[in-house]
Amino acid sequence: HQPHQANAAVSPRNEESVVHGLSETVVGVLGGGQLGRMLCQAASQMAIKVVVLDPQDNCPASSFSHHHMVGSFDDSATVQEFAKRCDVLTFEIEHVDVTTLEKLEKQGVDCQPKASTIRIIQDKYQQKVHFSQHDIPLPEFMRLDDLEGAKKVGKRFGYPLMIKSRRLAYDGRGNAVAKREEELTSAVDALGGFDRGLYAEKWAPFVKELAVIVARGRDNTISCYPVVETIHRDNICHIVKSPADVKWKIRERATEVAFNAVNSLEGAGVFAVELFLTEDGEILLNEVAPRPHNSGHHTIESCYTSQYEQHLRAVVGLPLGDPSMKTPAAIMYNILGEEEGELGFQLAHQLMKRALTIPGASVHWYDKPEMRKQRKMGHITIVGPSLSNLDGNLATILEGKTLDDK
Ligand code: ATP
Ligand code: MG
Ligand code: MG
Repeated sequence: HQPHQANAAVSPRNEESVVHGLSETVVGVLGGGQLGRMLCQAASQMAIKVVVLDPQDNCPASSFSHHHMVGSFDDSATVQEFAKRCDVLTFEIEHVDVTTLEKLEKQGVDCQPKASTIRIIQDKYQQKVHFSQHDIPLPEFMRLDDLEGAKKVGKRFGYPLMIKSRRLAYDGRGNAVAKREEELTSAVDALGGFDRGLYAEKWAPFVKELAVIVARGRDNTISCYPVVETIHRDNICHIVKSPADVKWKIRERATEVAFNAVNSLEGAGVFAVELFLTEDGEILLNEVAPRPHNSGHHTIESCYTSQYEQHLRAVVGLPLGDPSMKTPAAIMYNILGEEEGELGFQLAHQLMKRALTIPGASVHWYDKPEMRKQRKMGHITIVGPSLSNLDGNLATILEGKTLDDK
């Protein structure tokens, strides 16, 4: 793709201008998917200008951004050109060209969070090394270089063994499970072989998965959202319940681990900390995302300040907002593509139409140009008096089937 010419509406940064909005800072977002779209929606309310870099002409954020530059966030020249149009660079995806970001930072470009944070996080093995050095509890992990080594790791960690690709993972697309030693080769092959850069994690026998969105302002104030429960289907986040139905001691510990994890990273913005809760009440960190996250979609309707508004406040240097819930409970359901093409669209739209009949339900459609199986196409958030009430409402939307069938 050829990058677009600079939009005349995006004024050169050295030009003197009168400030009418809350902030004159032009926020550049690398990535224009649904997270970028919801950032733009929050920004429009505050009259903050967001420019987006994404290779797809009609990406979800495109129609809501102040300006969309068509180009790759993994291409050095493009990222440098994009940076000229922004006062602060931030992210809706961590799979970006971090070497260029480091170079730009040295030249004075403001990245929030810092390029060092993106570098640590975009390599999941490096991320684990970092957090273990900061005494964050994690499942045991080990690099994998060849089959002999993998067999040794299997003997040490036992089976099932979780094998993960170090880079470019999302929605479980970099994970493979070997149930026994004989499955090591097929699991490794499924991820593209040892040359792709793999590591192993000891199986975490969790009873629940939890997540905490943590915000850090430019003045280093840290503020945590309520702990949520995330329910995955085929490794993809599917349902989020807020607040998590766990003892307060567990919520306190989850918040503490999330706080410490984010405190070990540099830069402003919101971060999502994914956690495992084990049978004996232990909290282990799974991974951190340096950006708004699926587990925080519900905050748009359920919290005083949504994660998207919070991220913008953080990166432009406004005071952080109140992350607490303004409704007793919220449930978020991801609309995943069930069928390819037209039939997939019809099924999703039926679901959203049923949601419109439920009090407290809001629909979000990302307007992705193509429908694919298992793709995140939109979501539904329901707010209300209790989680059990919301479970019932969600079951009605899903045509009365129990949630377990979903
Ligand atoms: P995301 O879309 O959140 O970025 P990802 O592709 O980076 O996902 P992970 O978060 O590493 O993948 O794993 C996806 C899911 O797989 C987890 O939410 C959890 O359900 C399961 N999982 C991951 N690691 C382990 C483990 N060590 N033991 C058991 N289950 C695991
Ligand atoms: Mg991930
Ligand atoms: Mg994950």
